[in-house]
Amino acid sequence: MKKVYLDNASTTAIRPEVIREMTKVMADDYGNPSSTHSFGRNAKSILELSRKSIAKAINASAQEIIFTSCGTEANNWILRSAVSDLKVKRIITSKIEHHAVLFTIQALQKEFDIQVDYVNLKPNGEIDLTNLVELLSQEHKTLVSLMQVNNEIGTVLDLARVGQICQQYKALFHSDTVQSIGKTVLDLQVLAVDFLVSSAHKFHGPKGVGFAFVRKNSGLQPLFYGGEQEKGLRAGTEAVHQIAGMAKALELAYANLEIERKHISDLRSYLIERLEVEFPGFSINGNPDGFYNIVNVLLPFSAEKTAMILFHLDMKGIAVSRGSACQSGSIKPSHVLAEMLSVEDLKKPSLRISMSHYNSKEDVDLLIEALKSI
Ligand code: PLP
Repeated sequence: MKKVYLDNASTTAIRPEVIREMTKVMADDYGNPSSTHSFGRNAKSILELSRKSIAKAINASAQEIIFTSCGTEANNWILRSAVSDLKVKRIITSKIEHHAVLFTIQALQKEFDIQVDYVNLKPNGEIDLTNLVELLSQEHKTLVSLMQVNNEIGTVLDLARVGQICQQYKALFHSDTVQSIGKTVLDLQVLAVDFLVSSAHKFHGPKGVGFAFVRKNSGLQPLFYGGEQEKGLRAGTEAVHQIAGMAKALELAYANLEIERKHISDLRSYLIERLEVEFPGFSINGNPDGFYNIVNVLLPFSAEKTAMILFHLDMKGIAVSRGSACQSGSIKPSHVLAEMLSVEDLKKPSLRISMSHYNSKEDVDLLIEALKSI
C-alpha cells in the first residue's frame, strides 16, 4: 500500500541533504560551542555560520537571530518578556492564533492583569484590519500578536500592512511565522516587525529546534537563566547539529522556493478541481485563495462520519488532519473553525490537507478515491 502524507502543516519530512549535514555534525563536530579549545571553536563556528545563513535568508542581521528549542518556546519567551520586561499593558491578538500564542496570552492575562483584545475576523477567517486600527487608537503600551499564515485554514495576514499600522500607533508587533518562514520571502529590512518565530520541522528540517527574530535593541530579557549562550538570552548548550540542520533546511527551502511553490500551488488547484467534481457540496473553510500549501475543506458528509473519517483514511495509508496536530486526537472541535462555522457545520467533517513538494497528483487521486469509499 502506498502511504500518502498530506499533513505537512503538522510537520514535514526532513530533506536528505539536511540529514547528511546533521549526521556529519553529530559525528565530527561534537564540541561544546562554549569551550575554548579547538573542538569548541569548531562547534562555535558552525553555530555562527548557521546564524548568518538564517539571517541572510530573511535579510536580518545575525545578532537578531536567537536559537530556541521550538516555535512554542520562542512565542512564550517573546510574549512573556514583552509583558514582564517591556511593560506591555495590553495585547491585541485574534481568537484563531495557535495555542502556543493564545494560551500564553491567557496565562499572562491572569498573572499580570493585562488587557487582552481580540481583533474581529472577516467571514473568510482573515483579520479585519479596520477593526485593528480602531483597537489601536486607545492609549496603552500595546503589543499586537498576529500570525502570518494560519496553520489550520491557511489564511494569510498582510505582514507589511500590519507592520505599518503598528508603527503608526507605536505598538510592538509580534508574528508567529512558523507556517510561513521557508515558504514565502520575508525581508526584515523592509518589514516593520519587532519579533518573529520559526520552527525548523515545518520547512523540512529537524524537530526540537527553532529561532526567534528579535529586532536590535528590543530590551527583551531571558525566559530562563543559566549560561551565557545566545548572549545570555537563551541559556543552555546549543543543539549544534539541530541548528546546522535548520540552517541547511532554510537555505534549501529558499533555493527551491519558486519551483516548489509552483508545484504545490498546482497540486492545490488540482485537489480543489477534483473535490468540485466528486463532492459538489463541499466548501473551503477560510479564504479559498489562502496559502498555497494548506486547504481546509468541509465535506458534504453527515455528522456521524466525523469521528471515523480520519481513522478510515489512516487505514488506507493516508495522513491528513482535522486541525492542528496537537488537537487532532481530541474530540473537541477546532477553536479556529469554531470562530467561523455554524454549530451544525462544526459537527460535520472538516479536513486540513497540507502539501509539500514531495506530494504528487497521484497522492491527491488516492485521497479522493479513499474519500469516495466512505
Ligand atoms: N505556531 C504555529 C502556527 C504552528 O503551526 C506550530 C506547530 O504546530 C507552532 C507554533 C509550534 O511550533 P513547535 O512545534 O516548534 O513548538
